[in-house]
Amino acid sequence: MSVAKNFQAIKAELDSFASEIILVAVTKNHGVELMREAIDAGATDIGENRVQEAAEKFQTLDRKVIRHLIGHLQTNKVKAAVKLFDVIQSVDSEHLAAALDKAAKSIDKVQDILIQVNAAREPQKSGVMLEDLDALINFVDAAKNLRLRGLMMIAPNFPDARECRPLFRQMRKLFDELKTSRENFDFLSMGMTHDYKIAVEEGANVVRIGTAIFGERLYT
Ligand SMILES: *Cc1c(COP(=O)(O)O)cnc(C)c1O
Repeated sequence: MSVAKNFQAIKAELDSFASEIILVAVTKNHGVELMREAIDAGATDIGENRVQEAAEKFQTLDRKVIRHLIGHLQTNKVKAAVKLFDVIQSVDSEHLAAALDKAAKSIDKVQDILIQVNAAREPQKSGVMLEDLDALINFVDAAKNLRLRGLMMIAPNFPDARECRPLFRQMRKLFDELKTSRENFDFLSMGMTHDYKIAVEEGANVVRIGTAIFGERLYT
């Protein structure tokens, strides 16, 4: 199957849901040619998880697309990140939020961000713990050059993706509660190749899909 066919099949599946679901095509570890193929097949949103890799590809992309940073961001890369990305999905600490706010200010930008939540409390994963979420939200709200657009979550890699369902449901509940008192709070980003079907059933409205569109990534 080609990238275009894979992309369009998933897009059609997502379009069958009543509300709009944004499909972020995750191009990490693939070349810019595949990025172009996905965009030409209709992709409006692209996800990358490393700043340096994204910078190299975006430089030669010559296509318009909404660019998401979905990987862990180090504070020494924030200056490049605010220049490159429309949405930074992986904000998980006050330290990082402060650095991003400063970097965005220096280029006169209001940076759209999501807060990444470590809902499963996995020690090796990024994301803010639930008990620290309110404090981080307050911090971001006070940062003039950041605009909080929603939440992001990476589910544990359970052999059976259905095991993620309670976590997805918990995230949707949290998202809905926060949304009642906020503006521009629109995105709940959860679901990847192995678990996106469960995630959208539980209310994800942004999914981040790599393998199912582009095939396995080759790490050399
Ligand atoms: C790589 C990655 C994805 C896509 O994963 P697939 O399993 O290839 O669909 C989604 N989200 C994040 C944060 C990633 O790093």
